[in-house]
Amino acid sequence: MSSDLRDAVFVLNAGSSSLKYQLVHPDTGVVVAAGLVERVQNHRDALAGVFEQLAADGIDLRADTGALCAVGHRVVHGGQTFYQPTLITDEVVAEIERLSALAPLHNPPALLGIGAARELLPGVPNVAVFDTAFFHGMPDAATTYAIDRDTAQQYGIRRYGFHGTSHEYVSSLVPGLLRKPAADVDQIVLHLGNGASASAIRGGRAVDTSMGLTPLEGLVMGTRGGDIDPGILLHLDRVAGYTSADTDELLNRRSGLKGLCGDNDFRAVTARIEDGDEAARLAYDVYIHRLRKYVGAYLAVLGGADAISFTAGVGENAAAVREDALAGMQRLGIEIDPERNAVRSGEARIISTDESAVTVFVVPTNEELAIARQSAALL
Ligand code: AMP
Repeated sequence: MSSDLRDAVFVLNAGSSSLKYQLVHPDTGVVVAAGLVERVQNHRDALAGVFEQLAADGIDLRADTGALCAVGHRVVHGGQTFYQPTLITDEVVAEIERLSALAPLHNPPALLGIGAARELLPGVPNVAVFDTAFFHGMPDAATTYAIDRDTAQQYGIRRYGFHGTSHEYVSSLVPGLLRKPAADVDQIVLHLGNGASASAIRGGRAVDTSMGLTPLEGLVMGTRGGDIDPGILLHLDRVAGYTSADTDELLNRRSGLKGLCGDNDFRAVTARIEDGDEAARLAYDVYIHRLRKYVGAYLAVLGGADAISFTAGVGENAAAVREDALAGMQRLGIEIDPERNAVRSGEARIISTDESAVTVFVVPTNEELAIARQSAALL
């Protein structure tokens, strides 16, 4: 293996039918290779295919595994067990498997990715980085659902939060951008991608986040609707005979932007609004209304904020969303500068006016780099 691959981390994000990977140097952030395999039937074969392709391109990871620092895996649910990057052993695999009950859509494919990497790259340490980890230390008042305590305790029902790697990465950059000590910064992070979540962070520690036991709670997303009255599900059970499979399908696939207008991709929704489509318009309005409610809630939780940051596909690219989410909030100390907001760039940047008491940022997220760094730091 060429020396420029020494100490690189192979980051793997395994979905139910996809493998996203990146070979990256944790120190410099230099990406050696990256890709996405879709329509995956068999994770082991798909990963073997990736390694073959890389070898054909002169990056033979399987020939000299000694040079690779680690394989870093994104794992969605760490439950109450895992809140640090964790070296993967058979016991860790068994526990992630046990936690699949909490994340049936997400943990099983991650385990397939882990199994494939352990088999194909024997001798390379595998590290699990959990999407829930950053929210582990949230106050009990934020993690506790107001339902019967015994039932909640028996079944592990509490708010865990997700997208933690992104919230942590983005929020960790903000004190530097503000030139303030991290301990003095209260901030809100809005991760708006296909999935979407908001978090309130005080002095580097999360104090609240919008996703809960599962990634269904909170903001309006591509195919998930976020907060709804739980009575809706009882109602559908009574009047339409909904089974748990029907409910699962409604909540995970037929809600959010998709449920409201038939499109889950934000660009498609925006294009339809420009054509005067009313369903797309309503979908957008519901999306923005929810976002504004969470901004207000987290300003109250924090007692005011130093910064609000937008990140992920929609947050980094959709200037209209950023403007509409924070419009008319001057009395809350928030004022967007339209010219700054219109700038397109891959860099972290300020989009608020100089007078705005709250500094508003766009901060591109980089979950792969964060996973690579956490994996390398562990080893
Ligand atoms: P992510 O999950 O972070 O990859 O974000 C995916 C979402 O970002 C999709 O809904 C995309 O439509 C949206 N997105 C990506 N680029 C843009 C853009 N230029 N304008 C609006 N939305 C975008």
